[in-house]
Amino acid sequence: MGRDVAPRTPVRTTCPYCGVGCGVLVERTVGGFRVRGDPEHPANRGRLCSKGAALGETLGEEGRLLRPVIGGRAVGWDEALDAVAAGFRRVIDAHGPDAVAFYVSGQLLTEDYYVANKLMKGFIGSANIDTNSRLCMSTPVAAQTQAFGEDAVPGCYEDPELADLVVLVGSNAAWTHPVLFQRLAAAREARPEMRVVVVDPRRTATCELADLHLPLRPGTDAFLFTGLFNHLRRHDALDWAYIEAHTEGFAATLEAARESCGSIPETALRCGLPEQDVAGFFRLFAAQERTVTLFSQGVNQSASGVDKVLAILNVHLATGRIGRPGMGPFSLTGQPNAMGGREVGGLATQLAAHMGFDDPEHVMRVGRFWNAPNMASRPGLKAVDLFRAVGGGRIKALWIMGTNPMVSMPDADTLRTALGRCELVVVSDCMADTDTLRQAHVRLPAATWGEREGTVTNSERCISRQRAFTEPPGDARPDWWIICQVARRMGFGGAFAYESPAEIFREHARLSGLDNGGNRAFDISALAPLDAEGYAALAPVQWPVTQERPEGTARLFGDGRFRHPGARGRLLPVVPGLPATATDGQWPLVLNTGRTRDQWHTMTRTARTARLTTHLPEPVAEIHPDDARAAGLADGMLVRVESPRGHVLVRARVSRAQRPGSVFVPIHWNDCHAGSARVGALVAPITDPVSGQPEFKHTPVAIRPWPGR
Ligand code: SF4
Repeated sequence: MGRDVAPRTPVRTTCPYCGVGCGVLVERTVGGFRVRGDPEHPANRGRLCSKGAALGETLGEEGRLLRPVIGGRAVGWDEALDAVAAGFRRVIDAHGPDAVAFYVSGQLLTEDYYVANKLMKGFIGSANIDTNSRLCMSTPVAAQTQAFGEDAVPGCYEDPELADLVVLVGSNAAWTHPVLFQRLAAAREARPEMRVVVVDPRRTATCELADLHLPLRPGTDAFLFTGLFNHLRRHDALDWAYIEAHTEGFAATLEAARESCGSIPETALRCGLPEQDVAGFFRLFAAQERTVTLFSQGVNQSASGVDKVLAILNVHLATGRIGRPGMGPFSLTGQPNAMGGREVGGLATQLAAHMGFDDPEHVMRVGRFWNAPNMASRPGLKAVDLFRAVGGGRIKALWIMGTNPMVSMPDADTLRTALGRCELVVVSDCMADTDTLRQAHVRLPAATWGEREGTVTNSERCISRQRAFTEPPGDARPDWWIICQVARRMGFGGAFAYESPAEIFREHARLSGLDNGGNRAFDISALAPLDAEGYAALAPVQWPVTQERPEGTARLFGDGRFRHPGARGRLLPVVPGLPATATDGQWPLVLNTGRTRDQWHTMTRTARTARLTTHLPEPVAEIHPDDARAAGLADGMLVRVESPRGHVLVRARVSRAQRPGSVFVPIHWNDCHAGSARVGALVAPITDPVSGQPEFKHTPVAIRPWPGR
């Protein structure tokens, strides 16, 4: 539970926004809180971005959900928890465990995530628990598991600083991972010989650091990297000794690459890039051993995202540039605890502690550890399929925790209909009004940042404490408490009798070391003996954290030993494909969606401070001057962006940063902050067949002045 700190007693905690996971110090001041960067946190060493620096202005009771609510009536916790438990029990008894589902969030702390998974997968007996991280990083999870034998990011934040070549693919890190970008900019200044290449259809703020910007045709990243693979082979720039000693699958991968994208001219043609720029990038990559490739949503959010990530991993595996200082592929996670969620099996396709449904021994092992009466034995529904099952009536009770899928999911208007049909929709959230809360039968007030205790894990595998510095307002309670109370009322009391998040963390750490024997990289068993004081004082530490490495581990796989049987990394054949949908005369532009600098997700926190809204006060559609002219648009005009599924009304921003033929609309605005601005309503529910991650970066649309002529 939270506490009010005394004046000038700094509390060391972690920023709740992006996957950089910066440490912050919070002090009480007259009438509020002062937030500054923690100089001792390894992720930021005192730095903060605009969002982190404004955290103190986002606190307070205004707009908070303060009491449990059933059907519009404020009730006490006992009544609300009884109603949720009875509702879920009723559906399970009548229709079986797969008729219920949880949809959770990368905003949850690891301890919350752990008990939600334990309840659904071990006690209810279904794996229908998925997370909004499905929209963000499920693609690298799938690709890393295929290539390395485990979902693990090999490197650390120091690597881009040490590299001679940094390649950013589909990442506007300057806005989405700002402190990491600040570190990169500082390293670049100190080492002018460092080269930076940005691969992105848009000319973003990140390009300010680029020696070379490759504004490739949207969706063609896999062509670029298979072309690079061929180039490295032709110019004898592969590491044959490494390939021989530490990998498998080279011959098949090379054959697929040769057939797909053989030469520089062909690569340039496929990607819509000048030949000399493609050649320049390939030459740089061949020449610089210390190379880091940072990638993010531009790669992940694609119907062929796993292939794109594999194409990146292939060039790093085939050059042996992995897990050593200044080298490696690096997936940048979007959310503060996307990585922690993966540790506890937060995706419907995973089990806790990086175990999986594909190994029956893993299912038994987790079930035994939990003493679970109803252990799920097969994967559950991924986010898009999960909401489809809600709409189709297969899922009849749904609990949404700390996320706003009515805004963030693709096909968002259909989702509204689906939730309207569902027998029981429970939403736990810290805010009183979101597009999703409006669809809830039961609303549960959750504690939020600054009011709750737990851990998060950032993009470089670093576990950090989030600590409370104030009491939750009204009746708000931490998510782990709410989940455990429902579990107890469903008859699973003993397994959910936790008194604190520290207890949950210890169990999570014990499970990570269970029968591991070094077979899984995710192992924090050395943290299992932490007592309450040890947990309270836990300093940031990168997993694995074992008896052999109690200080944590900066890099993985540097010894060439991967987690597949036989310890070899796998090169995997990639046949690059085009996006699932193409433009035509009716829908002539490609819609790309993404973040802006000063807003976070659906704005429930960042919209509370005027400072953050001045950067971009309203939603826009960025469009190239040629396309604006063709559509009869001028800068600043109100426009309607339409797809076959819906529309948004936003303001035109005419910009040469936009590639001709494409339009960019931010993801943040929603019905609570601006009418008709939920860009998710335009996006088709098309997903990668392996990862289930939706294609948010390639929706054919039309744009016209509003009101129409
Ligand atoms: Fe927070 Fe990310 Fe900014 Fe760091 S970079 S202060 S974690 S939003």
